[in-house]
Amino acid sequence: MSERNLYQVLLSLILLTVSISISCTGSRDSTATNTAPNEIPRVSSPADEVFDGQKVVKSEDEWRAYLSPEAFYVLRQEGTERPYSGKYEKNKEPGDYYCAACHLKLFSSKAKFESGTGWPSFFEPVNEKNIVEVKDDSLGMERIEIECARCGSHLGHVFEDGPKPTGLRYCMNSVSLTFEPSH
Ligand SMILES: [Zn+2]
Repeated sequence: MSERNLYQVLLSLILLTVSISISCTGSRDSTATNTAPNEIPRVSSPADEVFDGQKVVKSEDEWRAYLSPEAFYVLRQEGTERPYSGKYEKNKEPGDYYCAACHLKLFSSKAKFESGTGWPSFFEPVNEKNIVEVKDDSLGMERIEIECARCGSHLGHVFEDGPKPTGLRYCMNSVSLTFEPSH
């Protein structure tokens, strides 16, 4: 292949890539509100309001393919994001926070407060049925881990030093949540 032909092949490959990415962008669901890489856009359904007992079950390989590496690490491997690194810690917009893995509604902005810890914090979940408490003895501490009731993903921990009316502090990882502003 001559140098000129090679150049032409390369150029057409670049043009093809550009046209594919343009058509992908164009076909995106226009009702989606989330654009972060780990968030697959979806439309909320009534089943996302209160856990109805229908669990979401995927293999860890499926979760790994579905989530960003950061989200997989926190949600599926019980990791913790660095404090002050998450996108929702300072978010004051009115709206709801959903599980980033299965889109079950978890927290409302009405229960969010500034804890100064570097993680988004809430004094109560939207519904007790939507979360599960699990005893966590890791890191030499006795803590209560919070998981999503529908998909079992790790969300964060709950502590008893929160504000009124519950006195609880649900300390969550931003990467475990998907925020949808209320309209
Ligand atoms: Zn979930």
